[in-house]
Amino acid sequence: MGKQLFRYSEANKEKFLESDNITFNDGSVVTPEEIWHYLTVEGPEKYPGTFEINLYQGNRASRDETLPTSLKTHYLGLTFSERMERAKDKGKSIAFIQGGQAVDPYTAADTIALRPFLVGQWYHGREHGNDINKSVLRRKQSKEKAFHDMSFEACQTGGYEHIQSGNLRVDVVAPYTVLRCSDVSYGVEAHRHGPNKEVKLFNVDYPLRYQASKPWAVEYFAQNLRRLVKTLDEVSGRKTTEDDLLKAIKLHNEGRRLGTELAELWWSADIPPTNSDDRLSLVSLANLDMHGDVQASLSVLKEARNIIAERVKNGVKGHAVTDNPKRIFILGSCVGINDSRSEDAGAIVVGKDDQWSHCSSLVEEEGDPFYNLAKATLEYPYEQSIEKRAEWTIEQIKKSRADGVIFIHNWGCNTQAAVARPILDVIKRETGIPTYIQERDLHGLQHEQEQNRVNAFIEML
Ligand code: SF4
Repeated sequence: MGKQLFRYSEANKEKFLESDNITFNDGSVVTPEEIWHYLTVEGPEKYPGTFEINLYQGNRASRDETLPTSLKTHYLGLTFSERMERAKDKGKSIAFIQGGQAVDPYTAADTIALRPFLVGQWYHGREHGNDINKSVLRRKQSKEKAFHDMSFEACQTGGYEHIQSGNLRVDVVAPYTVLRCSDVSYGVEAHRHGPNKEVKLFNVDYPLRYQASKPWAVEYFAQNLRRLVKTLDEVSGRKTTEDDLLKAIKLHNEGRRLGTELAELWWSADIPPTNSDDRLSLVSLANLDMHGDVQASLSVLKEARNIIAERVKNGVKGHAVTDNPKRIFILGSCVGINDSRSEDAGAIVVGKDDQWSHCSSLVEEEGDPFYNLAKATLEYPYEQSIEKRAEWTIEQIKKSRADGVIFIHNWGCNTQAAVARPILDVIKRETGIPTYIQERDLHGLQHEQEQNRVNAFIEML
């Protein structure tokens, strides 16, 4: 049987053309007309896999075509690889990061910060014409090779492989040693001994557990942030000032405020104003790092916030959302369930702790920007001890009115695997709502067994 491909309907074009432009870091602008052309002509030719309708990607036929910002996040995703190539051609620095930090210091130093997923997206986006199976196979092959070169105990190894083989023009590897991500230690060590000596390496040392209240720890971490910026400057040849960092903090605070507003508006509605996928892709814009261009993310986020406010006011229901869906909150790093299939089973994802933790942490704008950023970062709820993290998570679960909680951890995500049980124990004791834990494999076609368990949980709710 031939593949079923999704196509945007011409019936929605006129309305879409009335929506806002996207403005990028370099001041360039893309119009809705150009976005429409890309999504209907160029995109399907280059990336047919992302237009396939199948169980893995969910029912793409249910994509909300009346939500302009959904088309725009799709556009930013599809053009990611070519935009990164263009940025490098223009001499922009690119840093590889990992863990749950906000990217304010990288923005200040005029450097694009990319997490492992985005490094993979850049690499794989350079090959055109692949269907979904071929794309997944390519990702699995990179990961398999990296298991040998790095460690089979790491989860997210493809980024290491692309950088060390010199396939991608990444200038510096500069993650924080945050608690959430056990991969960082494997990655940093492997890069230190890897064959590509061209790539600079810097480790931002993050003091763990109950440190935000200790002035010496905040000072120590602030010092590390200064060293990070200095390293980024050595790569780019520029001189980043305190004022640059303050400007970056203000810009990112704007994103964090808008993202928080958007999420709270979404939660305030009796009827979910978007489906799970759109909720996530819009709230994720708040950290401004998702598409390798902070200004582009901000411009789509501003438009999204206004559209969601309008939808909530008018009681609009998100496309393909079932009536009275069971509300699920997802815990764990770099994870998610198959939103579309879970919606078909009668659920909706109302929140996640990962990423949301640093989106909801504003940075003080008065005083030493390095100190302020260090303090806010050490206070990230996701990085605290089990009890403190659980306490914050319970607040989010209550705000989102979740009916159930799923904690997912990837194979190789050692910290999250270890803390899943005790965190859920606290949540269950304090809220009484049903919970369950799922281990999964990163970068697979999502397995039937996995969805069976999610569906059983939804059925039980
Ligand atoms: S799943 Fe865990 S170990 Fe892997 S990249 Fe994410 S936080 Fe790090």
